[in-house]
Amino acid sequence: MTTVINNDTPELIPVRMLNEFTYCPRLAYLEWVQSEFEDNLETREGTFAHRRVDEPSNKPVAEASAGTSEQVREDVADELSESPTTADSQQHARSLMLSAPGEGLIAKLDLLELDGNVATPVDYKRGRLPNTPEGAWEPERVQLCAQGLILREAGYDCTEGVLFFVESHRRVTIKFDAKLIARTRELVQGLRDQSQRQAMPPPLEDSPKCPKCSLVGICLPDETNFLKRNTPAAPRRLQPTRTEALPLYLQAQGVTLGKSQQRLTVKSRHNKIQEVRLADVSQVCLLGNIQVTAQALRELSSRGIPICHFSYGGWFHAITQGLIHKNVELRIAQFRAHESAEQSLAIARQMIVSKIKNSRTLLRRHLADEEKPVLKDLARHAQKAAEAESAATLLGVEGNAARLYFGGFATLFKQHTQFDFDKRNRRPPTDPVNALLSFVYALLVKDLTIILQATGFDPMLGLFHRPRYGRPSLALDLAEEFRPLIGDSVVLTLVNNGEVQPRNIVSRAGAVSLNENGRRSVIAAYERRMQTEVTHPIFGYRITYRRILEVQSRLLSRVLLGELDQYPGFETR
Ligand code: SF4
Repeated sequence: MTTVINNDTPELIPVRMLNEFTYCPRLAYLEWVQSEFEDNLETREGTFAHRRVDEPSNKPVAEASAGTSEQVREDVADELSESPTTADSQQHARSLMLSAPGEGLIAKLDLLELDGNVATPVDYKRGRLPNTPEGAWEPERVQLCAQGLILREAGYDCTEGVLFFVESHRRVTIKFDAKLIARTRELVQGLRDQSQRQAMPPPLEDSPKCPKCSLVGICLPDETNFLKRNTPAAPRRLQPTRTEALPLYLQAQGVTLGKSQQRLTVKSRHNKIQEVRLADVSQVCLLGNIQVTAQALRELSSRGIPICHFSYGGWFHAITQGLIHKNVELRIAQFRAHESAEQSLAIARQMIVSKIKNSRTLLRRHLADEEKPVLKDLARHAQKAAEAESAATLLGVEGNAARLYFGGFATLFKQHTQFDFDKRNRRPPTDPVNALLSFVYALLVKDLTIILQATGFDPMLGLFHRPRYGRPSLALDLAEEFRPLIGDSVVLTLVNNGEVQPRNIVSRAGAVSLNENGRRSVIAAYERRMQTEVTHPIFGYRITYRRILEVQSRLLSRVLLGELDQYPGFETR
């Protein structure tokens, strides 16, 4: 991705991005070039600390300074005319967007103090005053100095700025001396060069900055370093073990999903049935005919919460979402990989090897006799898949391994359950176990579609599954290694524990599906499985299956962007 907005005009660098670049070049790349953003405690506290200065005392940002010195001064004058002059003749303007094409910078100033022609930018910082001889850390001083450079370009006298530390309630004056100005301009150039190189900088090594970084779950610093070097030192667990917000499933026909303040409401014609805090919802899944109000739709899309649409029978067929992810770089890499038979095969091979090994592990855990021929056959097929020299060969090996596996899987159902299973069939499933498998796989593919989109992929373009209209092929690819661990395991539990009974099954014209109670049981078991913590076989820390899906999606993106050589399939022990 280039940083020019026309052939000869460089894009202005937001000074906030300069702060990120000074903190960590990779962080700036992820945020600016790949448009990644994630809140954490630090960013939420930062937003809270800025709540006063972010109150617009001025016109909307979109209308702010177009950049020439005269325009900047006019904008400042406009803002000042609306604010009262203090006793000491100082004027203030809050939340002011200004730019300086000469410096190549744009900034939203928290506060501008103006006394005659002397301008002082004031930047609000959450937290306490740091114990450092310079009065503040370098990223904060550079960010402030960059604001000073913008004001200087507009003709103001600006020799110092102020950092206000909200928690300590202390002001620190930062002098814009020659050394700080040179360092600021050096970093501006460094960020510009980096964004034009189109290569993500490596993660920091074992850095104390990473645990505080909001993008740690996206960056995967220790995991990436670990996989690149293949060293025995285990990565730190820097990302959350589990996700707090969860999917909201609705299947009562005819209800309406609405929004009231910070909550989603579910109403029938006369009654409110359910209310959920928006902050607790990661996605909304609608099965069948459920209405969504315009207010709820707008709120969900603005928060990046997808709405997944299933048929009443559980067929996943659509997603409603806000704007597409801005990570064009990854989509280009994905399309290139799709075009490259060699690269597609290398990744697909690893996915299928992991799928066969995980299928074998599931059987091994349940079969009484560890020497069963099916286990040896599956091990042989995993080896064949690893050696497959074409996509067609890989497809054949995968099909044979699946037949072997489902033959063994059929023996795992307890006699008393009244559910028979012979072999896998679908479209439509013709027996209860196949109906359960189809619905659980649909839930898994739905989750992977959302995760891949959030990573910046096009989920419709696969590497193993070829594109077919309306089919999320990349989600189907990534689902392969998780089908036995999540999908099949859930179905075994449901049947063998009696959580789904024959009365939960509906049979019509040879097709078998689940009734509302049956689907409710499946969704509950599936969500329990997704929230189950397991020890990651490569990284060694505890993490839920839901988070593992996200990590695998990120690792796949690192392979396609050239940071990792090989896709590390997820293989449980
Ligand atoms: S997690 Fe660490 S390496 Fe990654 S962007 Fe953040 S600070 Fe940089």
